[in-house]
Amino acid sequence: MSVALRDYADAAGPEVIDALERLARPLRGRRVVHVNSTRVGGGVAEILARLVPLMNDLGMDAGWEVIEGTQEFYGVTKTFHNALQGVPVTPTPRGLEVYDEMNRQAARTIGPALADADFVFIHDPQPAAILRHLPSRRGRWVWRCHIDVSRPHRPVWKFLRPIVAPYDASVYSMAAFAQPLPHPQYIIAPSIDPLSDKNRPLEESEVSSVAARHGLDPSRPVVVQVSRFDRFKDPIGVIQAYRIAKRHLPIQLVLVGGTATDDPEGDAVLAAVREARADDPDVHVLLLPPDAHREINALQRRASLVMQKSLKEGFGLTVTEALWKGKPVIGGRAGGIVLQVVDHHTGFLVDTPEGAAFRMRYLLNRPNAVALMAEKARRFVRENFLLTRHLREYLTVMLAIDSGGGDQVEVA
Ligand code: UDP
Repeated sequence: MSVALRDYADAAGPEVIDALERLARPLRGRRVVHVNSTRVGGGVAEILARLVPLMNDLGMDAGWEVIEGTQEFYGVTKTFHNALQGVPVTPTPRGLEVYDEMNRQAARTIGPALADADFVFIHDPQPAAILRHLPSRRGRWVWRCHIDVSRPHRPVWKFLRPIVAPYDASVYSMAAFAQPLPHPQYIIAPSIDPLSDKNRPLEESEVSSVAARHGLDPSRPVVVQVSRFDRFKDPIGVIQAYRIAKRHLPIQLVLVGGTATDDPEGDAVLAAVREARADDPDVHVLLLPPDAHREINALQRRASLVMQKSLKEGFGLTVTEALWKGKPVIGGRAGGIVLQVVDHHTGFLVDTPEGAAFRMRYLLNRPNAVALMAEKARRFVRENFLLTRHLREYLTVMLAIDSGGGDQVEVA
């Protein structure tokens, strides 16, 4: 679907669109190129698919290139990914050579498009070494790191640090995710797209038919958690919280997860969830395909409240998605959840299943408080976590590095 910036006026507010146009004025005609490692699949590709057209819509000459790699290359970069998030794994010397060679080849194939660009955003570690194979680059290069590199496995960081240090700037999703590097560092939080299938408004009839298809009783409250079946998302803790609250309230629980067949951990967690569910007909464990965006949208809208009881979390886009739909979120005190769940305003932060159960009862017994929180939740996302804010921050970073990395940007 092709979207234009003006399509976002309803969701974000017309003044936000005007501000973006003003901010982008000095950048009109400038060449911007994003580079990542896949055109489909994963949050980065999803964001670029929207961000690049919107940059063009604002008058920039924006493009998107992809580094091509062999299976061996992706194996190495997956090891980087795990190691940067703290897992003690290191690629073999041969793997490191493959990584460098793929980047050298990319410098030959897509390099000419990058050498002339005014701004190049290199996303994550996969294409990061292109820069060192392009000595003739002209514009500003930014390493956009989407993962938590705050506690990397040291040998891998020792390899990557000299690769990313020569960039003009780097960008992280949260301050806590960054590493010290010898250039300006910026924070840009992720965002959701209010026009995507996952987040667009749905007819009430679609919401109720999805709920009915999954066997939910329309007359009773529903608590929903959408998450991969991963221990850090604590689905068992959610079931424990539900059991405690269920003594007092006729609730139904929906745990929505993916059909991740290549993840042995995921299978084990799913088996544990099924065991914990026992034969409770009010606990619905749903395995949906990865493109079931509208269905997840409908289930989030059907929820009386949403849980995200993570023990560890990156940013927690499921929290943003729920708040945008006006659902108070009971969230684990972890990662980006604490940026989004403002205690007593957009939801509650909890540390234990007992705490979560207590907050479930609190919310389900107070429809007026929920209505107030719903309003605040939606406004909070509108002001902070929509794609339009994301775009604004990209523009601001471009203006800042263009003017020499100062900490003030003058807008005409
Ligand atoms: N999601 C999905 N299907 C699932 C589980 C998750 O589409 O079965 C989506 C969810 O709606 C959200 C994203 O995957 O958009 C998960 O992002 P989040 O930041 O919450 O967690 P991550 O999986 O990246 O740790």
